[in-house]
Amino acid sequence: MNHSSFRRLPSIERLLQSLEAAGDLGRHPRRLVVACAREAVDRARRRLAEMPGSGAANVETLLVETRALLAERAAPSLARAINATGVVLHTNLGRAPLPEAARRAVADVAGYAVLEIDAATGIRGSRQAHVAGLLRELTGAEEGLAVNNNAAAVLLSLTALARGRDVIVSRGELVEIGGSFRMPDIMAAGGCRLVEVGTTNKTYLHDYEAALGPETALLVKVHRSNFALRGFVHDVEAAELAILGQRAGVPVLFDMGSGAFVDLTARGLPAEPTVASAVAAGVDVITASGDKLLGGPQAGLIVGRREPLARIRAHPLARAMRIDKLDLAALEATLRIYRDPERAWEEIPVLRLLARDIAALEAEARELAARAAEALGDTAEVEAVRTTSEAGGGALPGAELVSWAVAVRPRTGGPEIWDRRLRRHRPAVFARIADERLLLDVRTLDRSDVEPLIEALRAAAQPSTPPSV
Ligand SMILES: *Cc1c(COP(=O)(O)O)cnc(C)c1O
Repeated sequence: MNHSSFRRLPSIERLLQSLEAAGDLGRHPRRLVVACAREAVDRARRRLAEMPGSGAANVETLLVETRALLAERAAPSLARAINATGVVLHTNLGRAPLPEAARRAVADVAGYAVLEIDAATGIRGSRQAHVAGLLRELTGAEEGLAVNNNAAAVLLSLTALARGRDVIVSRGELVEIGGSFRMPDIMAAGGCRLVEVGTTNKTYLHDYEAALGPETALLVKVHRSNFALRGFVHDVEAAELAILGQRAGVPVLFDMGSGAFVDLTARGLPAEPTVASAVAAGVDVITASGDKLLGGPQAGLIVGRREPLARIRAHPLARAMRIDKLDLAALEATLRIYRDPERAWEEIPVLRLLARDIAALEAEARELAARAAEALGDTAEVEAVRTTSEAGGGALPGAELVSWAVAVRPRTGGPEIWDRRLRRHRPAVFARIADERLLLDVRTLDRSDVEPLIEALRAAAQPSTPPSV
C-alpha cells in the first residue's frame, strides 16, 4: 500500500478551514458540516485503499464532495417524489395522492382547529363528528367511525366484538396483505379463536352454518383485494352471509380492504364491491382503507349497525388507534367530494388516474418522448411505447390497465445506473425497467412533474455528482 498517498490526503481540519473560508459553516449547523467533512475524507481514504494507484483527493475535490453530502443531509428525508411507475396506489410512494381539497384542509387545520369542541356551544365533542355524518350519508349505514388505518379497523373490530370467542372465516379468505398483515395473525392478536371453514378454492354457506356454535361471536368475510382466484371457485356472497348471521343472531364483519365508494364499472374498470352495496346487503360491520380506492388519506373506516359500532367505539383500544387531525381533515374533505360522484371522478386523483383515457395517455407519452429525446440528445434512444400498468396497493387484483410510457435506452451506463441516478435526484423519480430500457409510465404523472422529470433525465445523462464508495 502506498502510504505517502494517504499522507497527502488533506486533514479534516484543513478541509474545515476551507469550508469556513467559503462560508459553508455559516449556512449549515457546525456539527453537520463536521460530520459531512469527516465522511468525505473517509470515503477518499477508502477509495485510496481500494485503488492505491488512484492518487489522493485534493482539498477542492473534498470540498465538492462535502457540499454534495451537505445538500443531501440538509434536505428533508420525507420529500415529494415523481411516480413514473404507472402503479396508481403505490404503497411505498404514499399510496393515494390527495385531492386538492384535502391538501387545503390539511394546511388549514395544521395549527389550532375545532377538533373536539362544538364551536357554537363550547361543549366538548367527538372528533368523529366530522366524518360520522358523511359516512352515514354516503354508505347508508347507521353509524360510521374512522381510525388510524384499516389494519387498526380490523383489529379493533375483532377485539371489541369477538375477544375470547370463535370467529368463522373461509380458508380461501385467510389472506396476507403486505408483509405484516396476515388475517390469522390479526385474529390471534385480537384474542379470537379462528374457526376455518371450506377449502382454499370453495366455500359454501353450509360450511359456515355447520361451524356455528354457542361460542361463535362473529362471521367474517375478507375481500381478496390483492390477488384473484380463477377457475374452480365458489365464494359466499356478503348478502348470503348476512342472512345467515341474522338467522343465527351472529353479527357479520366484512373487511373490504380497498373499499370503493363509486361503481368502477361506470368508467370501464373492473367491478369492485362498494361499501354502500355491502351495507345494503345487510352486513353488520364493514371495514375499509381510506387511502386505497377511496383516494383519501391513510385511515381505517368502520361503518355498520349502531349496536356493534357503539361497542367498537367504546373499546379502550379505540383510543390507541385514533385518527390524527391532519388525516381527519383530509378524510372529511375527500368524503365531501363523493356527495357528487361525477365530481369524484374529476377531483379524486386515484379515480381520475385509474380511468384515464388511452388516447390522452398516448398523446402525453409522445409529447414527453419528444421532450426527453431533445434533452437527452445522443445519450439515449427514446420512444413512446404501449405498456400495461396496475392499480397496486391491494386494489383491482389481476386487472391490467393499458397505458403508455416513454422508453429510454441509455447508450452508456445501462438502465439500472440511470434508474439509480433518477432515484437520487430531487425530486426523486421512480420508474420501471423492462427489456434493458427505463420505462416512464405517463399514467401516474402530473402536468407539474414534466419539467422536473426532464431535468432529472438530463442530470442522469450527465452525472456531475462525485463518485461514491
Ligand atoms: C389493505 C387491506 C388491509 C389493510 O389496510 P391498511 O389501510 O393498509 O391498514 C386490510 N384488509 C384488506 C382486505 C386490505 O385490502
